[in-house]
Amino acid sequence: MTSIPDQDTTPQHGESARAGAPPRDTETPRDTETEPLTRDLDAAEVMTSRDVQGAADLALSIGTRASELGREDLVQRARLVHADVKSRRGEVAASAVIIRDVLGWAVQHDHPYLRARAERQLATFHTMVGDTSAALECAVTAVEGLPADAPARVVADHLMCLALAHARTSSFDAARDRFRSVIDLARELADAGLLLNALNNLAFMEHVAGQAEESLRISEELERESARLGEPLVISALDTVARALMSTGAHAEAEAVLLAGLAEPDLLTEPDDLPEIHLTIAECRRELGRCDEAAESLATALRLAEECDLDGVLPRIAEEQSALAAATGDYRTAYESYRRFHTLEEEQRSAAREARARILAAVFDAEEARRSSRRYREMSLRDHLTGLHNRRYAEERLPALLARAAETASSLSVALADLDHFKRVNDLHSHAAGDAVLERFAQLLQAVTPEQGFAARLGGEEFLLVLPRHDAAQARDVCQDLVRTVREHSWEDLVGDLPVTVSVGLTTTFAGVGEMGDLLGEADRLLYEAKRAGRDRVAGGA
Ligand code: GH3
Ligand code: MG
Ligand code: MG
Repeated sequence: MTSIPDQDTTPQHGESARAGAPPRDTETPRDTETEPLTRDLDAAEVMTSRDVQGAADLALSIGTRASELGREDLVQRARLVHADVKSRRGEVAASAVIIRDVLGWAVQHDHPYLRARAERQLATFHTMVGDTSAALECAVTAVEGLPADAPARVVADHLMCLALAHARTSSFDAARDRFRSVIDLARELADAGLLLNALNNLAFMEHVAGQAEESLRISEELERESARLGEPLVISALDTVARALMSTGAHAEAEAVLLAGLAEPDLLTEPDDLPEIHLTIAECRRELGRCDEAAESLATALRLAEECDLDGVLPRIAEEQSALAAATGDYRTAYESYRRFHTLEEEQRSAAREARARILAAVFDAEEARRSSRRYREMSLRDHLTGLHNRRYAEERLPALLARAAETASSLSVALADLDHFKRVNDLHSHAAGDAVLERFAQLLQAVTPEQGFAARLGGEEFLLVLPRHDAAQARDVCQDLVRTVREHSWEDLVGDLPVTVSVGLTTTFAGVGEMGDLLGEADRLLYEAKRAGRDRVAGGA
């Protein structure tokens, strides 16, 4: 029996554009600039099932524009679309790595919409690798986590995903509720594709659940809606209708539905649609006692499957060959075909298991590689001797903090600290003693650094202290504290009675006025002033 499909919400042709308000991203003054981007994202998110290449192109252009605007949240949404594209192109592991990365970002930045979307896509991934309980967990989170103002089309997509996850774990009542909600939403949205898809999934589930009458009733609703909306049924929907008919014994009607489908080659969307239909027609004909015609259909199914290397259909063909041979009293062939069916099915099961294991291993490897490259990057931004951040980090981080100060109209203070007469430590003791002093000084500096700021070693015995949201007076307090702590620290174990002191040049900017270079230049000028005025002091600051 065919199982509940993987790509759960593949819509029918001509799916209407989604309706409903776009989700509100965090309000910023640049909303007018990002509005077209958000609109494109809403479209791209429901486009992948119809037009993979179109969605891929759109995601790329959205990602570029969003990163130019500095909208990381929109970049992440574009990445999710890209992940969906990859998954549909068979790059399942690469897709999962992206989705998990985006999910991490969404959790870290407390972005409920993005988080729910990522969970939604992870549900599909878990389904593809056969982990139905993990898929259900993600689908539940994806539905519960959607903000109240999410677009209705997205709500419907998440509910459909949850309905299918319940169906796959045989929680049929829970699944029915969700399918019904999707059907109601589809009617509200006047979304024909969504409506037919939901009815198809529900009818097929009732068939799988053994509810033949109910499956037939919904199939009839499906056909009625298709006729009313002027939207032809795709082949998987015709297959559902045929199966519902067959399980109530209406084989002639089922055959008619399938033959009508064969006459519309436009409806064939998946490569194995064609052999599947011939196979089901063979089954109908056998049940109707027209065994010669059944054999012909079966031969066609086999030829098509072999021509197109569609191994997935082969076990069911062998099973039907067995049933047909038995129907004509040829029990020997029936037995041989049945054995072949069994072997083929076992082979496919183990091939599927191996493929799933390969995907999971690839996901694991990619995440491991990324973790170690992140570690490497983190190391490259640290000073080896003191463990403080280094100049490279400062050059990346300071402009970002300046931009933040501009956005929030807050002050930012920058201090340069340079150890006094440090050359003497090296000369009178040793280079190793000098190193030890630098290490301990770094600890003292780190101790006075507030959480939102950072300290870095710029080189030699020169250090940078960045203090966001500190006006001149507050920053001066921090720097005075540093100077005093260094002066009063007991350095004896390292340098005997040689005093260790530090001089600091401090400057403050408001609302991010000035470039990083200007600020550092001013702090350096003030540092020189502190040295000239006798060292062991702070120059600058209120
Ligand atoms: P001032 O008070 O004017 O800053 O005098 P100073 O002696 O501290 O300044 P100067 O720039 O003349 O000398 C800095 C010394 O710091 C020279 C260099 O040997 C030493 N130094 C730079 N980097 C390191 C290091 O990584 N380890 C050690 N032990 N010494 C270093
Ligand atoms: Mg010095
Ligand atoms: Mg120096």
